[in-house]
Formats: sequence, structure tokens, C-alpha cells
Amino acid sequence: MKIHEYQAKELFAAYDIPVKKQILCHTADEAVDAYSRLNVPLVVLKAQVLTGGRGKAGGIKLADSPEKVKANAEAILGIKIKDIPVDRILVTEAADIKKEYYMSIVVDRNTKSALLMLSSDGGIDIEEVAHSTPERIYKFQIDPLLGTPDFFTRKVAFSLFTDIKLINQLSHIIKSLYKLMLETDASLAEINPLVLTPDDTLVAVDAKMTFDDNALYRQPQIATLFEPTVEEKKEKEAKAKGFSYVHLGGEIGCMVNGAGLAMATMDLIKRYRGKPANFLDIGGSSNSEKVVHAMKLLLQDSDVKVVLINIFGGITRCDDVANGLLKAFEQIDTDIPVVVRLTGTNEELGRALLKDSKLYVANTMSEATRMAVNLALKTY
Ligand code: GDP
Ligand code: MN
Repeated sequence: MKIHEYQAKELFAAYDIPVKKQILCHTADEAVDAYSRLNVPLVVLKAQVLTGGRGKAGGIKLADSPEKVKANAEAILGIKIKDIPVDRILVTEAADIKKEYYMSIVVDRNTKSALLMLSSDGGIDIEEVAHSTPERIYKFQIDPLLGTPDFFTRKVAFSLFTDIKLINQLSHIIKSLYKLMLETDASLAEINPLVLTPDDTLVAVDAKMTFDDNALYRQPQIATLFEPTVEEKKEKEAKAKGFSYVHLGGEIGCMVNGAGLAMATMDLIKRYRGKPANFLDIGGSSNSEKVVHAMKLLLQDSDVKVVLINIFGGITRCDDVANGLLKAFEQIDTDIPVVVRLTGTNEELGRALLKDSKLYVANTMSEATRMAVNLALKTY
């Protein structure tokens, strides 16, 4: 479960991790009011959405007058960041930035411990740093039995600083963040950027936290912060219709009967260098109503360029499935190419029924997958 920056910063403040004063707003007028209440010359307006990369998407703007606060707040409230409309902005005192650092703690399954990461290259391009110069991100395993004693936090703080004042500040932030993680069952806590100001103090300018869903039962305070993301809402809707759906972000929408076949389908798509948009198991039988619901679900995803329907007819006969598909596609109006692979009982009959439809019919799973990948690349 993810939470918003403003919520994470409230937790930070409660654990004595330095953050700037902040006020959450829903309208531009509220932002102007917040500007006067904060009573500082320069503020930052920050879109509150459950995704990163807000800076690059125009979701972070500075303002130094009520007029600019209003204009920038209106601009931010009008945009979508990665398809998520912005309905809230955080108004916060701007930090004066001398240098941006990166810091995070994640649960590391390999070492069965928390992993602390620090870098002098913080800011909005940390993904690029991780990709091209991974050696510039220092990693330290936190021993679960020892936790974060002084000798450890000071030692690791020297990877970023030499000045003892900064060593002590960072050391305190590491201890506090680790304590916060443990006490709230977080799986990730990230400060990017951790900012060094010209008067040599450290302040968390951004805050990101993710919590272990399986621990929410014992974290009632954290659980109240739950807000489903757009994807989580879709997954819930799908569940209510009897599907098992997981959004993956690629471009080939998959509709499969059976979880094992769905996994195999995704593997094969990857093998042919395509990107599955989702995992979708529509369950045992595949009547036309189910296919219509599933298609609607897939077509809601604007990244989907091709749909691959992979059905194994065991108890359900393939000719029944084919008739179901034909009936379903009478109701679905889409230009997106649909590839169908039917196998099992009465498969020839099933395929023959689909021959004159606009569906692309394949005989084997690899043929269907290659067709789908090529259609996505528009080379078919
Ligand atoms: P993200 O893009 O979603 O990660 O949002 P961040 O909160 O990390 O902000 C992105 C960038 O905006 C930071 O790396 C800073 O360069 C800039 N920024 C954010 N807050 C401040 C601030 O208080 N003062 C200044 N000068 N720049 C800021
Ligand atoms: Mn950030």
C-alpha cells in the first residue's frame, strides 16, 4: 500500500525527521490562503498523486507571490500525472537547495534484512544513476539483530559527508527512518531528494512510503490512509466479476482461461519480446458475457494495442467458446486487433466458426503470440 507525500511527511515529523511546514489544499484559493498562513516568501506547490516523477510531469512548481501561487495551483490541479488526475496539492515552505542526496530503506528479501541506500546524486534522475552508474548508490545491509547503533550509522554516513555536524544529522535521520519503518511495517521508505541547505542542515524535501499489505491488520493507523490507486480499483472491480486481474503496464492485453495458462501466455509474450499489459484469468468457462466484461476491462487500459485471447477448451467445447466470442464481439466496438487461439475439444470446429470474423485466428500458442507481438509493433 502506498501513501501520499504529505502523509509520509506527517509520519516523518512524528519521528523527528526534518521536514518543512506544509498545508494540504484542494483548490487554488485554499493554496493562496495556505501561502499567507505559512508566511514565508517562497513556497513549493506539489501535486499529491500516488506515483513518482511529478517534477518532470509539471506537478512541482515554486511560487513567491499570491498571484503565482494561484496560477501555479490552477495549472497543477488541471493536469494528469501518468493518467492520474491531480485533486490535491501540498503547499510547503521551499527549501533552499545546496545539494540533493538520495536515501532509502527497503526490505531486501535476499539478505532477509533492511537495505539502506545512500547516494550523492539525489534528485529527479536517480533512476538514471541506478541504471548507468549503479556504483554511485551505496548499499548497506542493516543487521536485524543490531538495528542501527551509532557506530553503524556514523560509519555509513561518512559515505556522503565528512563534516561531523552532517554525519550526526544523517546518522539521526537513518535511525529515525529505520525506527519508523519497523514500527509501521513499511516495505519502503525513500527520501529523494534529501536536501542540504546553504546553512548546512539536512531536510527531507520528498517522502515516499510503501507498507506491507499483509501487516495492515495490525497497523490500524496506517490502514486508515488506504486509497486504492486507479489500478487497484480496476483489480477490485475485476475480482467482483469473478476474474483475477493484475495490471502490468505493457501493450498486449491478455485474456486467458486458467491461471497456469495465463502465466505461460505472459512468458511466451516476453519470449517473443512483447510486453504483456496484464495477467487476466477469466476462469473455467468462457461464456460471451464474461468475454464482454473482460474485453471492456482490457480496453480501459490506454496502453493496450493488441488483445490476445488464449483459451483452452476442456469441459467447455471450443465451438461454444467461438460462438461466445462472436456474440461478444457483436457488442464490442473496437479497432484494436484481437488474436484468438483456441485449443482442445472441437478446436477445428471452433476455429472454422471464427474464420470469417475480424478476429485473427491462430492454431498454436506460439503462432498466436508472435502474431500479437507483431501486431503490437505494426509489422504484421
Ligand atoms: P518528484 O519529482 O515526484 O520526485 O518530486 P520531488 O518532491 O522530489 O521534487 C522534484 C524536484 O523539484 C526536486 O528534485 C527539486 O529539484 C525540486 N524541488 C522540490 N521541492 C523543492 C524545494 O523546496 N525547493 C527547491 N528549490 N526545489 C524543490
Ligand atoms: Mn522525489
